[in-house]
Amino acid sequence: MQALLLVIGDEILLGQTIDTNSTWLGQELHAIGVQISRRMTVRDNLSEIVDALSYGWSRYDLVIMTGGLGPTRDDITKTALAEFFKVDLVFDQGTYDRILRIFERIGRPATEAHREQCFMPSNATLLPNAMGTAPGMWIEENGRILISLPGVPYEMKSIMTSAGLPRLKTQEGLIPIFHRTLLTAGLGESEIASRLGTFEDQLPSHIKLAYLPSLGQVRLRLSAYGGQAAEREREMAHYAQMIHAELGQAVYAEGDTTLEATLGELLRSRGLLLATAESCTGGAMAHQITSVPGSSQYYLGTLVAYHNALKIEKLGVSIADLETHGAVSEPVVRQMVRGVIRAFNADVAISASGVAGPDGGSPDKPVGMIWIAAGNDKEIRTHQLKLGKDRMKNIEATAILAMNELRIWLLNHPEITGKGLVF
Ligand code: ATP
Ligand code: MG
Repeated sequence: MQALLLVIGDEILLGQTIDTNSTWLGQELHAIGVQISRRMTVRDNLSEIVDALSYGWSRYDLVIMTGGLGPTRDDITKTALAEFFKVDLVFDQGTYDRILRIFERIGRPATEAHREQCFMPSNATLLPNAMGTAPGMWIEENGRILISLPGVPYEMKSIMTSAGLPRLKTQEGLIPIFHRTLLTAGLGESEIASRLGTFEDQLPSHIKLAYLPSLGQVRLRLSAYGGQAAEREREMAHYAQMIHAELGQAVYAEGDTTLEATLGELLRSRGLLLATAESCTGGAMAHQITSVPGSSQYYLGTLVAYHNALKIEKLGVSIADLETHGAVSEPVVRQMVRGVIRAFNADVAISASGVAGPDGGSPDKPVGMIWIAAGNDKEIRTHQLKLGKDRMKNIEATAILAMNELRIWLLNHPEITGKGLVF
């Protein structure tokens, strides 16, 4: 089933509203096997909307439109539909009664505009809106379907979830899609691509591999189009296994989780207590780690040792090392790990010190050079990162890569466990 997404609204074209409706509809329709072939955005203008409808209706099996169903003058979607389908707008008493009830509840009178809002194209089946006044509409003619939805995101989603998507799922011509997503951290997109070159050559044509990079991480999504679920799932498991074998520890999980949650689970299951010592990340590690519900079971806290005086006084970093190697150096991040383990009575720790930018670099320590360390008081893994010039990206990427460093350290030290929190 091929679809056109038709978004209506001046504010979208003017860049005042971000078109999140399309993002959501794109994901949901894709998931049920509707292929979105094109997306169009038009003004709140009758002839523009009618033009777009003629274009879409003659080419696609499904047209989904959002916006312009409200009670205001600029809401002309229904007029456009009536004109395009050459049908009348007929008053729907059920919708009017519902609007009156809503206004009674909030203690305000409904206006004439609300009464006018209840005129619907005569060929439309209404899709109930539990979140607002304007129902969605379903129009079906000659095997083609049109769905019209309000622009307000939560109303649009509610109508689609309760009525639109279930009804679409019963249609013919949907191509089932199967996904399997592997989550990796610490390897760049191009490095992964070169390691998976041979693997990609072997993939059959009905299976695609997509690279979805974000800071410090790449999601690898295998998609299969069409076929029987059991067979596809068996195939996907096979290919996912091949990716695991090729990328090893860089793959931290599959599906719908995060690096911080994965690290948290490793720590919790082994009873280990984590502390962090942060210079250039300024608390970003703590923020990431504590974004996981239940992180209090394994995370003690952070020491933001931004100034060297704190590195010396609170973490016991050696003055001589600071003078010889500078704050952005391997010996310093090592001592930060040991120092915070001692200060907080932790089992393991991570630390970072670097030049976050955009200024402040030097020839031997350019902007984006960051040292990270992870481990316990006996064995510590370090890594020099060479990141870019964007301060906020550097901070976020450092937090992610430092957590990843500890994850790898933990995988390499399966024997190390702790007692968990003892109050
Ligand atoms: P209303 O009853 O509120 O008038 P409507 O169906 O007429 O609803 P619009 O007037 O087009 O919808 O948009 C209402 C609000 O919904 C907009 O101000 C905007 O904030 C939001 N909105 C509209 N379209 C989108 C979109 N594509 N993505 C995200 N938000 C949107
Ligand atoms: Mg409106």
